Amino acid sequence: MTTKEHLLSCLAEECCEVGQRVSKALRFGLEEIQPGQNQTNAQRIVYEFTDLLAVFDMLGREKIIDASIDPIALAKKMSKVQKYIEFAKSKGTLTD
Ligand SMILES: [Mg+2]
Repeated sequence: MTTKEHLLSCLAEECCEVGQRVSKALRFGLEEIQPGQNQTNAQRIVYEFTDLLAVFDMLGREKIIDASIDPIALAKKMSKVQKYIEFAKSKGTLTD
């Protein structure tokens, strides 16, 4: 395995860990603390997302990927998500 493959594997793992934490928060709430843990699901999402960002940054530093974030692409994604929030509201599947 190369460093590139190792870091890409780490990135995939961290993505899954973020997904797992988000799933737990959806099932049990952001403020729930899993037995044996001392952080809420919200805190653990931040922790795992930080892990994800760290590996993403390492991929950039190793010049494996261009890890620079395009602010225009960021704004476009936010706009797209907002558009689908409004669509979901119009369909009655999003109620708050
Ligand atoms: Mg992690």
